[in-house]
Amino acid sequence: FLSLFLQAKMSRPVQARRLEGIDKNIWVEFVKLAATYSKVNLGQGFPDFPAPDFVREALSRVLGGENHMLHQYTRAFGHPPLVKVLAQLYGKLLGRDLDPLTNVMVTVGAYQALFCCFQAFVDEGDEVIIIEPFFDCYEPMVKMAGGTPVFVPLRLKAPKDGKMMSSADWQLDPAELASKFNERTKAIVLNSPNNPLGKVFSRGELELIADLCVKHDVLCISDEVYEWLVYDGKELIRIASLQGMWDRTVIIGSAGKTFSITGWKVGWTVGPDRLLQHLRTVHQNSVYHCATIAQEAVAQGFQRELMLYGKPESYFVQLPKELQQKRDWLVQSLEAVGMKPIIPEGTYFLVADISQFKSDVPDVPNSDEPYDYRFAKWMIKNKGLAAIPLSAFYSEAHKSNYSNFIRFCFAKEEATLKAANDILQKWKKEKNS
Ligand code: PMP
Repeated sequence: FLSLFLQAKMSRPVQARRLEGIDKNIWVEFVKLAATYSKVNLGQGFPDFPAPDFVREALSRVLGGENHMLHQYTRAFGHPPLVKVLAQLYGKLLGRDLDPLTNVMVTVGAYQALFCCFQAFVDEGDEVIIIEPFFDCYEPMVKMAGGTPVFVPLRLKAPKDGKMMSSADWQLDPAELASKFNERTKAIVLNSPNNPLGKVFSRGELELIADLCVKHDVLCISDEVYEWLVYDGKELIRIASLQGMWDRTVIIGSAGKTFSITGWKVGWTVGPDRLLQHLRTVHQNSVYHCATIAQEAVAQGFQRELMLYGKPESYFVQLPKELQQKRDWLVQSLEAVGMKPIIPEGTYFLVADISQFKSDVPDVPNSDEPYDYRFAKWMIKNKGLAAIPLSAFYSEAHKSNYSNFIRFCFAKEEATLKAANDILQKWKKEKNS
């Protein structure tokens, strides 16, 4: 009788309804595959080169220093020196006075900043516009908040005259974008520079989005974690600086991307108090705050950068220079084997067209797995090179339209990129023989 009773109890669903349909995750599968088979992992987005000395030294100083209070709780919404320096920096970038206590909130990475936004702004029945391809966590986060994601794809306008593709060739269709806004639309998520394409949205595109946000009274969650990684002298325009947008935009940033310290998990939001006050409610009642020592060391990193702003020694000047070089190496290596790279204007990702390889990859009968998934798995297992299928960054309904591409991360040591090049050169020889 007791065992029957226990069994009956165990048949009750344990998971909350809000988790239905969001329990599959591409990263679990691909991180495992890469760990098992790959010799060179250009899949997941993190640098394998060391963080700059000045942030590592700052952390050592904080750890070993006199101020033992840095090992205790700090202010819930952000360690005072960090919110202060972030308010100074973003004040300068946006050309407005920012109050460190009300216009800035520190989070556990940009991930938690995103989570706070969706929890704070999205109600049951609200729609949130997501531009495809997108950083994959936006969709489950909107759903967990009870909202409905509405997708609008960037459309590829293939360049003429055999020119190389660029992330700038992926553009919003203005009429299509406008058709997604209605009275249920609560917010749009903008990610510029965009993961996975590396697209840096132009002023015209941002004005289009801004006009629609103002017209329909819609919020903008602006994920700008790759803000310092912009190439070829291109300018990053911040949507919050456009007319009517400051009051309806939350900017999201990440020390992980800014200082090449993804493991520290320090992120932040910048925006008007009328929005941030609700983020503070979510933050206070979930995470409370992020590690004090990490916040203190990041604050010291920013203090240095603020002093060196625009100077050649600044990390924000040096890092994009180095990464642009790495991007160009990877472009060359991929072209050699016959992939067609889409030159990214920003981020540390590069997407390449793999439609020329269909005959190399065995068909799996009765499988509805997209070609890019099959290709990426085949490449990891047979060539030892890991990348991520692009359709992972699309909604279910649109995946099949974008299954001819894979994403590489080039924020890697020269030696790692050389090892990738060796694999690709060997592959090229095999193809030609
Ligand atoms: N937004 C985008 C677009 C990202 O690519 C990432 C990290 N891959 C994040 C947010 C999360 O950043 P963090 O590591 O600071 O949580």
